[in-house]
Amino acid sequence: MKYAQNYIGGRWLDATAGRTFANENPADTGDVLGRFQDSDPEDIALAVGAAHDAFPSWRSTPLTERQALVSRFLEKLEEAREELATIVTRENGKTLTEAKAEVTSALVEGSYHLRQSSTFYGTAAPATGTGWSGWTQYAPLGAVGIISPWNFPMNVMCRKTLPALLTGNTVVFKPAPYTPWSAVFMASLFESAGFPPGVFNCVTGLGAEPGEALVGDERIRAISFTGSTAVGKIIQQQAARRLVRTQLELGGKNALIVMDDADTEAALQAVMTAGFACAGQWCTSTSRLLLQRDIAESFLDALAERCEAVKIGDPMDPATGMGPVAGRMQYDKITSFISEAEAEGATRVCGGPETGTAFSRGYFIRPTVFRDVAPELTLFREEVFGPVIAAASFDTLDDAIQLANRSRYALSSGIFTRDLKTACRYIDSIEAGLAHVNMHTGYKDPALPFGGWKDSGFGPPENSRSGLEFFVEPKAVYLNH
Ligand code: NAD
Repeated sequence: MKYAQNYIGGRWLDATAGRTFANENPADTGDVLGRFQDSDPEDIALAVGAAHDAFPSWRSTPLTERQALVSRFLEKLEEAREELATIVTRENGKTLTEAKAEVTSALVEGSYHLRQSSTFYGTAAPATGTGWSGWTQYAPLGAVGIISPWNFPMNVMCRKTLPALLTGNTVVFKPAPYTPWSAVFMASLFESAGFPPGVFNCVTGLGAEPGEALVGDERIRAISFTGSTAVGKIIQQQAARRLVRTQLELGGKNALIVMDDADTEAALQAVMTAGFACAGQWCTSTSRLLLQRDIAESFLDALAERCEAVKIGDPMDPATGMGPVAGRMQYDKITSFISEAEAEGATRVCGGPETGTAFSRGYFIRPTVFRDVAPELTLFREEVFGPVIAAASFDTLDDAIQLANRSRYALSSGIFTRDLKTACRYIDSIEAGLAHVNMHTGYKDPALPFGGWKDSGFGPPENSRSGLEFFVEPKAVYLNH
């Protein structure tokens, strides 16, 4: 069993109060993975102090040196791919294939930001007047706080941390309680890549307190948060009191529309991927499925057949199609959504909790689909964050778009159609940060912005140019000559 410490100012430290917590394997609750520091606000203050002290030297480190360190970190990440993927699988429950894909995604995004950072400063437009020159210069913000969820524990952290470091900021990272092991492992990669002490710090802990302390510390100049909408709103209120900028990547209730002219085979594949990969626990998962009425029956039959064929089990086994959900709280939340949907009169087509004795030591839920889910029902409105799809039927494209937009969330979306006009009308009228045509709702590329509208996000999106821009202040320079 692992014993892990916080990484603060280049040193590995116990939490000041001396408390630790255990992390269990959601596929086998008898398998305790390790003990991690249950940190207090004092530990956060120590880490913020280290990041604050490291900032002046880090901001004046030449960009090429910062890039060299990030490049070395990415090499270490590549070398550690198998080991890290195993850690992610054991503490999160996603299959090893999915965990390896997560590391690959972090490498792709990290390389993108690394390349982009070379030209980032060169794009500011110069201005000229009579007898003076002007240009825009970017300054890093200082020590920044990064708070992540457990569903993509290493990729989300990298997507925020690497742009912050490349632009000259220092970081205090607070991971989610379900996934402290991958967090401290990543901290060890920053250490072995040779980052100066205090540039990257990692503090683990239970409950809201460590995160609150990070957001509330007046030395923290920005918060990049990924997690639930409820916590995002709390953070926004706290940050607003100090006028601290936020980047909030929040929940989703993503709709996929399937028109009757669609390639149904491709659409089915997309639903299986975005609906049930990582046991449906991704923010861009397909959680509402809108089917044109004349194909709805046959589509749902084919979908149920595929769902029933998914092999549930040990996520380390390459033959497993879907692992457990991430922990007890997740399991209880998802199963209560299933019970509530039934109590509200929705019809379950397939799935539900996996009750076989072989699964009694883990948190297993089968791919679950409900049909004819009315838009008023909780299952249509609320984010389940699990392998549960709410399906509904529609007659016209306008009806489908109206249904899709009938949500407080607006993160990702998709349509399957062979008609270009239909696709273009959907692109123009869908309310969502991501609009996919004939692709699954979870697909993303680092060159395009990743963020949600409405209750799904706030502030500049991650990835693309804005992924770096969030971490700098523009300065308008006027030089009289
Ligand atoms: P969560 O909001 O419960 O927790 C997220 C993080 O916030 C954790 O590290 C947690 O410890 C911390 N936290 C909790 N209370 C806090 C407070 N008051 N102040 C500061 N920090 C606090 O979310 P979760 O259960 O870890 O993750 C699931 C959620 O994340 C889902 O809603 C999902 O849609 C969302 N998510 C969004 C994206 C995206 O890019 N939009 C990506 C992944 C996950």
